[in-house]
Amino acid sequence: MGTNYYCHLAGEKRHIGKRSAAGRQYCWDCGQTLFAPGEQFVHEQIGIVRRRRFYKLCPKCNRQPEKPCMSFNWAMPEADLQRVSGPITNGYGEVFSLREFLNLLEECPIQYTDSIGEDFC
Ligand SMILES: [Zn+2]
Repeated sequence: MGTNYYCHLAGEKRHIGKRSAAGRQYCWDCGQTLFAPGEQFVHEQIGIVRRRRFYKLCPKCNRQPEKPCMSFNWAMPEADLQRVSGPITNGYGEVFSLREFLNLLEECPIQYTDSIGEDFC
């Protein structure tokens, strides 16, 4: 389950990526990912991300995060957003401005880039 987002780039419809519920894998109190290899690896390191190892409790406050977070699995490089023309749509036909979409990304502290360029949904 998740929501796919699309944009228009150079006249073509492009898949931006998929936003999904990621459970309690992020402590909003501490700003701390529960992704064991660390925040700096959330956006890279394909092999590590694939293994998806998570702490059960926040390593800073030792509590189970209460508020769930979202993840975003990129299908294209984030930098390409700067060249987007027109609104962004999702798989349910809802329409967003780029700013609104960037706000949605704020709710996604866990982001994967290992599927960029792949055809997935
Ligand atoms: Zn914490």
